Amino acid sequence: MEPNILILGAPGAGKGTQSSNIVEEFGVEHVTTGDALRENKHMETEYGTPASFMDEGELVPDPVVNEIVEAALSQADGYVLDGYPRNLDQAEFLSEITDLDVVLYLDVDEDELVGRLTGRRVCSECGATFHVDFNPPEEEGVCDECGGELYQRDDDTEETARERIRVYEENTAPVVEFYDERGELARIDGEQSLEGVWEDVKAAIESSA
Ligand code: ADP
Ligand code: AMP
Repeated sequence: MEPNILILGAPGAGKGTQSSNIVEEFGVEHVTTGDALRENKHMETEYGTPASFMDEGELVPDPVVNEIVEAALSQADGYVLDGYPRNLDQAEFLSEITDLDVVLYLDVDEDELVGRLTGRRVCSECGATFHVDFNPPEEEGVCDECGGELYQRDDDTEETARERIRVYEENTAPVVEFYDERGELARIDGEQSLEGVWEDVKAAIESSA
């Protein structure tokens, strides 16, 4: 059985970046509500389209997101879950549908997050993540992994990034406390280099096995 891993952290903390490393090292599936929602941004739901929330930096309603997560986890033999749960109701829902082996929290100061988000570039083909200053591709605008074109996410503007961080503080910070109070949280200094963070992430997963 592969491990069930939850990775928590503010927008821009490095969850997607470290999830790619985890997938490669531990052979689990990357389940990310952000990517799943971006692929279905214009789908009509009874609450409106995901885009109408995402482009404002607000949370997509729980029923839409819970359904995505339940379907994805039921098909995965080991996963790293990224971007969910984002509020306490989602955390309760998650505890009813699965058991977690390890909960990682990437701790990054708020001041650092906006610069990470506005400088982020994502591959339109394979989803690999870069940063114009902190993790630049060899050739500007081109993915190192697959040669695909890099783009900037619609919600990675300064204004929307600040709103997402505010929404995180209000709704998602209590989720971190929820796991911390249960003694389940592996807190990792997310302000180290990408390699430094990865060393700590890997060690935390290995020590939970
Ligand atoms: P999240 O999935 O938590 O929103 P990402 O993994 O997409 O965050 O990272 C956000 C941005 O910060 C990306 O541009 C990424 O390249 C960069 N980044 C990730 N980890 C680090 C780090 N340890 N130091 C500097 N920049 C980082
Ligand atoms: P992310 O890719 O994790 O930064 O998420 C991008 C956007 O997708 C968020 O700002 C939300 O609008 C939406 N989203 C992603 N995951 C969730 C979730 N678990 N609950 C509600 N909205 C979500």
